[in-house]
Amino acid sequence: MTCITLPVGALETNCYLVSDANGQTAVIDPGAEPERILRTAAAHSMTIKTILLTHGHYDHIAAVNEIRRQTGAELMIHQLDAELLSDNRKNLALLFTGAIPPVDAPDRLLIDGDTVAVGALSFEVLHTPGHSKGSVCYLCKEGREETLFCGDTLFYLSCGRTDCYGGDDRIIVASLSRLAGLPYDGTAYCGHGPETTLAFERINNPYMNLMR
Ligand SMILES: [Zn+2]
Ligand SMILES: [Zn+2]
Repeated sequence: MTCITLPVGALETNCYLVSDANGQTAVIDPGAEPERILRTAAAHSMTIKTILLTHGHYDHIAAVNEIRRQTGAELMIHQLDAELLSDNRKNLALLFTGAIPPVDAPDRLLIDGDTVAVGALSFEVLHTPGHSKGSVCYLCKEGREETLFCGDTLFYLSCGRTDCYGGDDRIIVASLSRLAGLPYDGTAYCGHGPETTLAFERINNPYMNLMR
């Protein structure tokens, strides 16, 4: 598994290019700068097959249409956040940046427990609402190697805001508790800011320990 992190746009949303040994690639949260994302993928001989969204906020979706147009990649998002793709109020664009073009309808709506295959990679969908109704984490597996992508549910020593449309502070605490209970200690790639590990957050993240 190869993972490249690209902080994109004004909010430095972490866009991730995740590929198997043959360059079969998923792009997670292409929030802005589509040409830079595509250039980076090409430079690493990555073929983008799938676009996975951790949730539907504007800063995670604004480059989707262009990447899809140039690659034909399939778009996937949790079913409860699909409504955000074409609603600039619910995806917070109007609140923070101004309207963005609606994202074209997704190819697949995800629910908890789904698995998405991309080449030799498989992404398990963990529904972790609270930042938005349809926020998910993706546990990516390749053989015995595992990596967690957690969007805006978990940040280094923090978590995503819960005061916008679809947010709920009690629900995100339950989602973080679920993450804390995973049989996984490794790297957690966050929607903004530095990567961390679940082992570290389990001990040190105040929001992860509110239910225990
Ligand atoms: Zn968000
Ligand atoms: Zn975000």
